[in-house]
Amino acid sequence: MPQYYQPEIETASRDEIVKIQNEKLVKQVRHVYDNVAYYRDLMDKKGVKPEDIQSIDDIHKLPFLKKDDLRECYPYGLLATDLKNCVRIQSTSGTTGKRVVAFYTQHDIDLWEECCARAIVAAGGTNEDVVQVCYGYGLFTGGPGLNGGSHKVGCLTLPMSSGNTERQIQFMMDLNATILCCTPSYAAFIAESLKERGYNPGDNKLKAGIFGAEPWTEEMRHSIEEGLGIKAYDIYGLTETSGPGVAFECSEQSGMHINEDHFYAEIINPDTGEVLPEGEKGELVFTALDKEAFPLLRYRTRDICVLTRGKCSCGRTHVKMCKPMGRSDDMLIIRGVNVFPSQIETVLLNEGYSPNYMIYVDRKNNTDTLDIDVELSPDRFSDNVADMQEMEKKLAAAMRTMLGIGPKIHLVPPKTIQRSEGKAVRVVDNRKLH
Ligand code: ADP
Ligand code: ZN
Repeated sequence: MPQYYQPEIETASRDEIVKIQNEKLVKQVRHVYDNVAYYRDLMDKKGVKPEDIQSIDDIHKLPFLKKDDLRECYPYGLLATDLKNCVRIQSTSGTTGKRVVAFYTQHDIDLWEECCARAIVAAGGTNEDVVQVCYGYGLFTGGPGLNGGSHKVGCLTLPMSSGNTERQIQFMMDLNATILCCTPSYAAFIAESLKERGYNPGDNKLKAGIFGAEPWTEEMRHSIEEGLGIKAYDIYGLTETSGPGVAFECSEQSGMHINEDHFYAEIINPDTGEVLPEGEKGELVFTALDKEAFPLLRYRTRDICVLTRGKCSCGRTHVKMCKPMGRSDDMLIIRGVNVFPSQIETVLLNEGYSPNYMIYVDRKNNTDTLDIDVELSPDRFSDNVADMQEMEKKLAAAMRTMLGIGPKIHLVPPKTIQRSEGKAVRVVDNRKLH
């Protein structure tokens, strides 16, 4: 039997959802126009007035917001309510530049935590579960978001934060954690650490994991599921829209339901801004329909994605987004070929390697170079140079088939690539330094 945190809204008919979106959007545009001078100017420049927005079908008339706008408005420029109504700030990880600061009223926190609660229930969580949250706590949204969601569901919450893997394992075992929340790269590290300490996947009480905040492949999912003996669910979000929980996976594990009563999603052509029909790949754009303090309208996430509205076996009716295929600014153009780091991860795991790798891009003699350090597991490591070279050649060939260009592979000994406790950084593009 599928379980829902808020069944009426999670399984609402399309008509009901559209009605909610229409009402909320009209109100929200008025709220932003009246309170955010920066966005009012953007609307005025485009010749759009709040009265022009009568329903969600009019949303395309509104101007986009981009990360640059957020930087320009730092810190208070997009605040839509009096500071005295705000109770919290959170901030981006700064993966791609200067941090963004987002503000929350208590209403905004409740809304966000409810979204996370939906994700936990979709992963099978109830008030009998013990949820181990090892996303970072603090400015990063991962820890506070899942922590709040776990409270709302009534789970026993272990607010571990990230790092100190020894203690993570001790608490996981001693307190019988049943749901693990962290980045997929940290989940893989925890699985590896458990194995090293002689544990088998069946030795822990975990049943599910809720992993997100960074791109991860299906192959990575299988590897984590096997390593921990759990079902691994994806969760998506960004500080600009609140944090994790904007979208989450259900039992079908085939894309994440977007909480459409709070966030309206569009897919656009990143070059022209044109809205693309359902099923086409493009940049994901979000409008926060009922946030009070930091309500971004048509915010361009730079995440590349596809939306689908097919019927889902879990009974939820909200639109699904696929796993983001990396950000548009994660894409590497190497010798004119588009390469996503996720393609490299797919090949590595398919060929039986670990998800511990580093990608180095450089330019030598006017030609782009692609080098990949791949860590060997102890059972694959050998002192025989010829064996190692043979493995490197085979892996390079598999990469060439997938990417269309051939990288140079360097197999490195076990434990030589640094593990990540939060968002993994696996790409070093030295061309940008020249
Ligand atoms: P930063 O932009 O500094 O990383 P955030 O911590 O707010 O700031 O991260 C949000 C970004 O993280 C998203 O825009 C997306 O690129 C990435 N992300 C979040 N969840 C996922 C996920 N489940 N899969 C892939 N990428 C994700
Ligand atoms: Zn579903």
